[in-house]
Amino acid sequence: MDPQTIAVINAGSSSLKFSLFEVTSSGPVRRIRGQISEINTAPVFSARIGSQTAAREQILGEAHAGHQRCLHYLLEWLGQHAQVHAAGHRVVHGGLAFSQPIVVDSAAIKALEGLIPLAPLHQPYNLEPIRALSRLYPGLMQVACFDTAFHATKRKEARRFPLPRALADAGIRRYGFHGLSYEYIAMKLKEVDPVLAQGRTVVAHLGNGASMCAIHGGKAVDSTMGLTAADGLPMGTRSGALDPGVLLFMARELNMSLETIEDVLYRQSGLKGISGLTHDMRLLEQSQHPGARDAIDVFVYRIQQQFGALCAVMGGIDGAVFTAGIGENSSLVRRQTLRGLGWLGFELDDTANAQHATRITTANSNIPAYVIPTDEDLMIAHHVQNILAV
Ligand code: AMP
Repeated sequence: MDPQTIAVINAGSSSLKFSLFEVTSSGPVRRIRGQISEINTAPVFSARIGSQTAAREQILGEAHAGHQRCLHYLLEWLGQHAQVHAAGHRVVHGGLAFSQPIVVDSAAIKALEGLIPLAPLHQPYNLEPIRALSRLYPGLMQVACFDTAFHATKRKEARRFPLPRALADAGIRRYGFHGLSYEYIAMKLKEVDPVLAQGRTVVAHLGNGASMCAIHGGKAVDSTMGLTAADGLPMGTRSGALDPGVLLFMARELNMSLETIEDVLYRQSGLKGISGLTHDMRLLEQSQHPGARDAIDVFVYRIQQQFGALCAVMGGIDGAVFTAGIGENSSLVRRQTLRGLGWLGFELDDTANAQHATRITTANSNIPAYVIPTDEDLMIAHHVQNILAV
């Protein structure tokens, strides 16, 4: 009998990422990984099959632009490579109702559409492939996995904004995001450092989207993100936490419309806004422009600040993990961050850090820091395989 296969789809506003996994007795094993980038303008399809080291690229061009057309292309392509038994989707917001992965039916799709106002820049794109697949393959099992779900264990003080109760009842709460990444790191940490996996860890997910999470014994205690994925650390183009008065000032004194403010908060701020150059950490690191230095300094300062806050809510810290594009690849950001955190017990090993080794602190360091590449798709595949096994 052919092995069962799971397709994982992670649909964003401008890209469609996907993986194909084979179900095995020791968990899902990835067979294909790929993406369609620039889907709104000039889509480019790329995929790596099996042990291929380089991805094969195909320019789809303007004729394929748009979510629907790209999705169709992807589903046909997947159909040619495997008979898919189940699909897993990354869905950014599960709201109050969904704190576990769910098998999707039409009622669930409706409920998830109701959460679009809480994540207007992510949720609509996450739901498109679910709807498309249920139209094309009505019998296919589809599982939605939520970025908010891992944070359901947060203490109740961490979930409340200090706002009137009626607003909390309307769903205005601190949810937290990047949960599939944190869940994966918590799972992987059991292999990398089983003692730390039982202890208090600060995980820094530093990519174009960036957040940090306090995890104690594998469970979330608090994180830097709140109602939306715009809170907390500065990101590639998002501001992160602001004085709420800034929004009122922009609206009242600067006469900025809601749309303009949203554009500033989500697309013109963060590393891009501070530097005046780019959101891309690689380019910032190479740049001699003073704005680039400023952007990195502010980013690191906020990370260090949040280390302090997250340690405090756990009553201490036993170790740290860096992950995602910047966390996995920027030895500069890790070095600058940990150099300012010696008081917590970190002693950086410069050579290990420069080599992106798994452990980047010295043998004498009081507490360890690790670099662990995240894999949200694999986490989703684990959830789907667990549901398939029931
Ligand atoms: P992600 O959203 O997780 O894909 O992360 C994207 C971010 O990671 C961008 O800011 C990239 O510039 C950054 N990044 C990727 N590779 C490197 C690298 N080798 N050095 C520094 N930053 C990197």
